[in-house]
Amino acid sequence: MMMNDTVLDRFLRYVAIDTQSSEESTSYPSTEKQLDLLNLLAEELRRMGLSNVSLDQWGYVMATLPGNVPEGHPAFGKVPAVGLIAHVDTSPSASGANVKPQVIEYKGGNIVLPGDPSVVITEAENPELKQNIGKTIVTADGTTLLGADDKAGVAIIMTAVQSLIEDPKLLHGDIKIGFTPDEEVGAGTKYFDMRKFGAQFAYTVDGDTPGELNKETFSADSAIITVHGRNIHPGSAKGIMVNSIRTIGDIIVRLPKDIAPESTEGYEPYIHPHNIQGEEEKSTLKILLRDFETAGLAELKNKLEQIIEEVKPLHPKAHIELQIIESYRNMREGLEKDPRGLECLWEATKRAGLEPKWVPIRGGTDGSRLTEAGLPTPNIFTGGKNYHGKTEWVSLWGMESSVETVIHLVQIWVEKSSE
Ligand SMILES: [Zn+2]
Repeated sequence: MMMNDTVLDRFLRYVAIDTQSSEESTSYPSTEKQLDLLNLLAEELRRMGLSNVSLDQWGYVMATLPGNVPEGHPAFGKVPAVGLIAHVDTSPSASGANVKPQVIEYKGGNIVLPGDPSVVITEAENPELKQNIGKTIVTADGTTLLGADDKAGVAIIMTAVQSLIEDPKLLHGDIKIGFTPDEEVGAGTKYFDMRKFGAQFAYTVDGDTPGELNKETFSADSAIITVHGRNIHPGSAKGIMVNSIRTIGDIIVRLPKDIAPESTEGYEPYIHPHNIQGEEEKSTLKILLRDFETAGLAELKNKLEQIIEEVKPLHPKAHIELQIIESYRNMREGLEKDPRGLECLWEATKRAGLEPKWVPIRGGTDGSRLTEAGLPTPNIFTGGKNYHGKTEWVSLWGMESSVETVIHLVQIWVEKSSE
């Protein structure tokens, strides 16, 4: 590590380390290899001179950059501790091993990836490419994902912290750094020790398009429909067999096609069947319910209940169960209780030369759970795109703009605390 590492140097160093998390694992972190990067980050933070650098038994890396507001300054002793959070793991949906990043001076047009020419990043699907003509972007080689989600966020935080250390004229309060495992398998904050972290406001750096900020996520439940049938040898099944697969099939065809992820956008809710397991005796269907209004989740549940009532008479001997499990809640309400965190972020993005825009996330973030638990945590862009797949790419300009935004952000917190 060199002290003058750029955000690109860091990004390339971090994506070379395989940190794929796993849905199947019962350990935490879900995969041992995430610790390869977490250990490296703890080491780099120590060498940069941060305080209280720790890697706990779960794999969370935490560190403090102490505030430098001098005595006598109107904000002295008044700046809240601000957290910066990114996750180190990459999605289980595509390989993250042997990532071969391609650093490209983008000149326009589609990008055919060298490791598998059938994988193409097209202009049509990536309107953000236009802003990057004449600039540097990074792609994978077409055989793996890139890992900009969220190693771009990790590199952005590390680079911003380095800049703050190098220039003591940049005033900031205590900055709390948190690098987390297992975000992609929905467990990024499972053992996150908020008290030890010690921030009063935090930001995840885990978004995408430059300028886009997130204060809203879906409210999310999952539904499990279980059908119990009765199995018997097909040769003597007449009048006896109750095939749960046929019942589940009749439920699936009734799920509304216009309330599906593939047919909705923006603030529209959806019902999304995403996993099915079935044999004659028993079939299970897993469904995601998503709405920006928490109250809307009850309507989605009602729809499922109606469908089940409709199907019951068609299969009178089958037994159908519906179970609803709460996942996470829209963070907007929690964030707007004290809007300072949002106001500082908006202003910081403007000072970085971008046009800030609040965009609803059609998913959850670690911030949704942290906000619910009392640590307001909106999300900042990284410049990445096409997460979780082989066409993932990141804009260097986007990463640099995010670094600038973070540096402005911590200074604006000082200004706001001087009032
Ligand atoms: Zn992410």
